[in-house]
Amino acid sequence: MGVFDDLAGQDSAIATLTRAATAARDGGTGMTHSWLITGPPGSGRSTAAKAFAAALQCTDETVGCGECQGCRTVMSDSHPDVEILSTEAATISVASVRELVSQAQAMPTVGQWRVMIIKEADRMLERTTNVLLKAIEEPPPRTVWILCTPSPRDVLTTIRSRCRGLNLVVPPAEKVAELLVRRDGIDAEAALVASRAAQSHVGAARALARDPKVASRRHDNLTAVYNIRTTGHAVLAAAELLDRAKAQADDEGDDRTEREVAELRNTLGLTPSEQIPPKLKSQFKQLEAEQKRRETRQLRDAIDRSLIDLLSFYRDVLTVQLDTDTDLVNPDFDREIREIADATGAEKTIAIMDEISLARERIGGNIAPALAVEAMMVAVRR
Ligand SMILES: [Zn+2]
Repeated sequence: MGVFDDLAGQDSAIATLTRAATAARDGGTGMTHSWLITGPPGSGRSTAAKAFAAALQCTDETVGCGECQGCRTVMSDSHPDVEILSTEAATISVASVRELVSQAQAMPTVGQWRVMIIKEADRMLERTTNVLLKAIEEPPPRTVWILCTPSPRDVLTTIRSRCRGLNLVVPPAEKVAELLVRRDGIDAEAALVASRAAQSHVGAARALARDPKVASRRHDNLTAVYNIRTTGHAVLAAAELLDRAKAQADDEGDDRTEREVAELRNTLGLTPSEQIPPKLKSQFKQLEAEQKRRETRQLRDAIDRSLIDLLSFYRDVLTVQLDTDTDLVNPDFDREIREIADATGAEKTIAIMDEISLARERIGGNIAPALAVEAMMVAVRR
């Protein structure tokens, strides 16, 4: 098991990272100290970053062997010289980047390199970016920075120009399916159907194949869209899509909110039932605000994934209309897709796809999701 094994369909990126990690062994003179790993959601940016960190700490003859102490501790998030900054909030705080920058100054303790990973580097405000800028421009000789974002455009030019870019591609559905079979023990056919339906988003494909609730929400969303005939249907379909996205986001949030409150109580030396003293109240308020931001973000992400499902449905309709002879993304809706394809024209389908993309953009730009989704559903009506 090599450290890059879970990076499905990214042969070229794996070759680049393996070469870099190999070169880093010979004194590391040609080492690039700042990397920007980009790629669409679900393509494996974080997986690539961590695997690269492991390859850099690997002590075996085969770079990134997956077996040695260095590889194993990085892969289990317990290597003392590898720091991972990740957030589910809308922005990465300047304080956490400052802390990372200061940790980056230290020499590695047990490993070859000090590796600093920022998973959602696109969530830094400009002033936060400035804190990072100097650190990645003149890093200490044994420090490597790895930033991850969906697209190179997501970070300021000043950051981009100081990093070596590495772009991940959308992996072929077959490769994602192979990974789900090997790693998660999912049945081969189910894995392929899920990988196609999730459009090669590894995490979404896995959830679709393993969680019946996720699968049924997708099914209900596509069925609802197929059935829209009147404005009344459209309004109802919008409300239901949002409800399902909310349920999805709540499932993902799990019991984390309560756990964090319990942890904070514990840290501050409060028993579970003790009343919060006034001087500590602000800390709980701050946590609450963070949680609220995270929930908003999770909900928007869930809505966005639903819209991507709808987009794939109409892409299938268009595929049939244009007779392009490619595999359907949603083969389980073959009959419905062909029916719509027969009844309408490609122009209408393209207009609908534009509407869905517009709704995604508007929600990304902080328009109330209910408004954006409703307007889109009305446009989808047959
Ligand atoms: Zn190793």
